[in-house]
Amino acid sequence: MKCVICDGDVDYVIKGTHEGYCKECALEHFEDVDMLEPRGNANAKEDDSE
Ligand SMILES: [Zn+2]
Repeated sequence: MKCVICDGDVDYVIKGTHEGYCKECALEHFEDVDMLEPRGNANAKEDDSE
C-alpha cells in the first residue's frame, strides 16, 4: 500500500477505508490522526467491507 498523495510509505489508514497516507500527508490533510488508524493495526482487524 502506498500513500494516495505522494506514493510514499503508508503510516496511517483512514478508518473504514483502504486509503493510506504517510504520516506527513495524514497530518497535513487531517491535522489530527483521530480518524486514522496506524497501518500496523489494520492487519489485526477483520476485513470490514462497507
Ligand atoms: Zn504522503
